[in-house]
Amino acid sequence: MKLLEQRIAKDCKVLPGNVLKVDMFLNHQIDIELINEIGKEFKRLFSDCDITKILTIEASGIGIACICAQYFSVPVLFAKKGVHKNIGNSFYTSTVYSYTKEKSYEIAVSKDYLSSDDRILIIDDFLANGQAVLGLKSIIEQAGASLEGVGVVIEKGFQSGGGLLREKGIRVESLAIIDQMQDKENLVFRH
Ligand code: 5GP
Repeated sequence: MKLLEQRIAKDCKVLPGNVLKVDMFLNHQIDIELINEIGKEFKRLFSDCDITKILTIEASGIGIACICAQYFSVPVLFAKKGVHKNIGNSFYTSTVYSYTKEKSYEIAVSKDYLSSDDRILIIDDFLANGQAVLGLKSIIEQAGASLEGVGVVIEKGFQSGGGLLREKGIRVESLAIIDQMQDKENLVFRH
């Protein structure tokens, strides 16, 4: 998505440890006009899917997912973070290893809001090693729901997540894939 690539190139910061900082438009301050365009693009890409719900992880996925959900006319469900494993039997839970925080955490979704009738689109801001998506996938499977696809705003193509998920047969649509990011001036996007 050209508009997104231009915005990343203009505003991003490349931090040590292969972390891309885009919190001036995506995950701290949020540019709603840009996210609207992102929502339209996800709707176009997944127009063949009959999505019943969008699933994401708190916190940074929520705002993006909410704007996108307007184009699908479906609710947004977000996995809550940091819930203790013994939360009871009314939640689906899973463990996710965080790339940016370098530690594992639990996520949970109430059984009230996910059922075997649901056809889910996962939306997240970044795809790095795929652990967040795999955690959400596990929750979808526990509910007997179907995972229709994954919409990612920025995929770091030099990390393993994209390959891992696609090898498992998961449909992944990324709006910008960065194959190299040694520094801001030399970002390489995949086309
Ligand atoms: P994964 O689970 O695919 O390894 O990592 C995805 C999650 O880690 C995303 O939900 C995102 O919050 C965070 N993340 C991974 N890489 C980056 C990055 O380069 N920049 C930012 N801002 N977040 C990232």
